[in-house]
Parts: sequence; structure tokens; C-alpha cells
Amino acid sequence: MDHFTYQNGVLCAEDVKVSDIVLEVGTPFYCYSTATIERHYKVLASALSGLPATICYAVKANSNQAVIRTLATLGAGADVVSDGELIRALQAGIPAHKIVFSGVGKTEAELALALEKDILQINIESVPELERLNAVAKSLRKTAPVALRINPDIDAGSHDKISTGRRGDKFGIEWPLVHEVFSHATELENIQPIGLAVHIGSQLTALKPFKSAFRKLRDMVDLLREAGHEIQRLDVGGGLGIPYDGSDVPSPSAYGKAVADTLGDLECELLFEPGRMLVGNAGILVTRVVYVKNGTARDFVIIDAAMNDLIRPSLYGARHEIIPIMEAADSEIMTTVDVVGPVCETGDTFATGLRMSPVGQDDLLALRSAGAYGAVMASTYNSRALVPEILVRGSQFAVVRERVNIDALLRHERLPNWLSAAPKA
Ligand SMILES: *Cc1c(COP(=O)(O)O)cnc(C)c1O
Repeated sequence: MDHFTYQNGVLCAEDVKVSDIVLEVGTPFYCYSTATIERHYKVLASALSGLPATICYAVKANSNQAVIRTLATLGAGADVVSDGELIRALQAGIPAHKIVFSGVGKTEAELALALEKDILQINIESVPELERLNAVAKSLRKTAPVALRINPDIDAGSHDKISTGRRGDKFGIEWPLVHEVFSHATELENIQPIGLAVHIGSQLTALKPFKSAFRKLRDMVDLLREAGHEIQRLDVGGGLGIPYDGSDVPSPSAYGKAVADTLGDLECELLFEPGRMLVGNAGILVTRVVYVKNGTARDFVIIDAAMNDLIRPSLYGARHEIIPIMEAADSEIMTTVDVVGPVCETGDTFATGLRMSPVGQDDLLALRSAGAYGAVMASTYNSRALVPEILVRGSQFAVVRERVNIDALLRHERLPNWLSAAPKA
């Protein structure tokens, strides 16, 4: 459910005509809907209302200040994976006591920043990281609140590149070692072990792997408690998928029930780290057709957005629904096309063999469900600008990140003194 709908034949974001935004900022750009973000947050919060739950938005899905602030206003905490994200979350108004720091390779500086800011919890993924955190905490005369992220050896059944809970994946502490590492953590003077964490992957479209992982988490809680350890908090990660191609995904309430059924009676606080499910459907990427190139093998619709703006199709084979901004007059007439970007890579392809209403040069299109892992994964490959981000609220819209163009990019580059003279013509 989102708030991108046709009104009088024009695609609108809430009450704003997308074509009006194009007039102001050009193309391509990302456009986010406040009402959609709010709706997803509230649906999830109500699905978890029977549980002692804190929702820590996974900032890496979309770290725009306006998006984080929208969620902060609703009461969300944050899950961050770098010092940059920690600074973004704090600056957007997320209180430190609702911030969790995840990730396999947190540096000394990042651990120190987390301790200085007194965040809720640091999720630890290895023994060397635990030792380093202890040392950093000691030097700062602090005690670090820690959860151990376990690797439950569960296949999330998602794309290989975003499955994180299998034994050979780099994430978490292998299940058979968790007990020993937890005991070790309790012996470290500046570490306060408070619980366990798990996150088996992203874009999960079934509940079964979640349930398997939560049961393993539960088994570990039992084991640790039998050994006399106190477990107060469980972080169940993120990962619930969204219906990119209209396929079925578990509802937030079914997910909430799965958590309640497996972990609900353990008397632990629960942390949730949703990213995609909060913001994925809340964004579109708006683009213009540069050319339609008809060939003997295929017909190409070449658009002005590319893999550097939205890498999910080339990185994960992801499909984003592509729709016209001006609704087709006759929805019966269809053509089959490939929709591609202008970047010099064959992988710069958004759709192959797509059935769609015929489009012409300069027509406007939208790639749907681009709110998560879109703008945050953008690069400037081919020296293309970082595209603007727009946030809509009712009948208002605002540019929440301006275009970062070639002038801005060149400002960071320097010629060394031995190259400072311009070559002779
Ligand atoms: C990426 C990530 C999330 C968010 O995943 P989604 O699929 O966007 O919900 C949550 N927790 C951790 C540790 C992550 O790495």
C-alpha cells in the first residue's frame, strides 16, 4: 500500500502531480511519500503493540535526513552500521538511547564514538571486536552495553548477496561458539553483555526462516540462562521483504505473531531493525525517456536514470515496476521493450522483455518501490550527478537533497604540483 496513484491521468505522490516536481527539478530524481512512510511505521508498530518492542529503523535503507526525521517524529529509534550513519541518526533527532550499532567491521574510532554518545547497544560480531571494544571502553572509563550477534546457520532463501545468516557468511558469531564468547564477555571489565542479536538477511518473502532463526535464538537464551547468565534484550534484526512485483509477502501482523510465538514468553525487551519494509514502497525514481531505439532483435527504451542512480537491478537482478507518469490512454495496446540506462555497461538494464504501453521520446516514467537501497547506493559512475531527493507531504513537496553535480564532484579533486600546468594544445 502506497500513496502513488493516478489522479485525472497523472501520477501523483499524495496530492502532488509528479509532473509538477519535474518542472521544478528536472529528471531523474527520487520522490518519497511521507504518508506512505508513516503508514508502514504505524502498521508495524501496531502489529508489535503486544510486545515490549522498540523499532530501530535500519538507516542504511534510506539515510536522508528528512526520512530519518519523519521516522524519529513517529518515535522510531535507529540501527546504524557506520559512524556516518550514527551521526546522521543523531542529527535527524533520534535519541542516543534508541540507537543500535551493527556491522562486522566497526573501527576503534567508530566504537569510541558510539561510547561517547552513550547509545543503547553495540552488536558485537567477533571476539577481536569484543576485545577492542573492551579496551576502548576502558580508555574512556565507560561500560559498553553489548549484544552478541549470533550466526544461526539459517538460509534466508533470499538473494545470495543479501543472505547473511548462513554458516559461511561473514556475519555474526557461529552458533556453537556463542556460549563461550558470551561467558568471556561477562569476564571483561568494561563490557556489559545484555543480550543477543540475529539478522539473517534482507528481502525475505517467507516467515519460515525467521521462525527457524528465532527458535535458535530462543535455544541460546535457554542455554545461557541455565548457565546463570542474564539475558534482558533480544534484537531480532530486519529483513521482511516487500512485494516488488506484486507477489505475496508476509504481513507485519503475521511477522509479529511469529516473533510472539517464538520469543514472546522470554521476558526480554525486543528490538526490531526494519529498513526496506518501512521505506521501500515509499519512494519512486522518476526518469525521462531519452530515446526509443528500435532494432531487429529488440526495442530499447533508453532512459536518463541509470545503474549509478539505482543499482538494485544490476546488483541483485531486482525488478522494479515501471509505469508512465501520464496514464496510457488505451491500456490494451502493448509493446515489448528493454528499458536501459545510458551508462556504458550492459548491466545497466532495468527491464528486459517488458510488456508496457508504448512510450516515446521525452515521456516521463517512474520506477516504483525505489525508496530503500536506492539513493543510498547511488554512485557518480560515468561522472553522473547524484540525483535530487524530494519529500512529499500532502500537497507540499520539498527538495531534501539537491543534485550533486559535476562542479561539486570536481571540487574534491586536486592536481599534484607536477601536473599543474595545462598541457600544450
Ligand atoms: C540491513 C540490515 C537491516 C535492515 O534490513 P531490511 O531488509 O532493510 O529490513 C537490519 N539489521 C541489520 C543488522 C542489517 O544489516
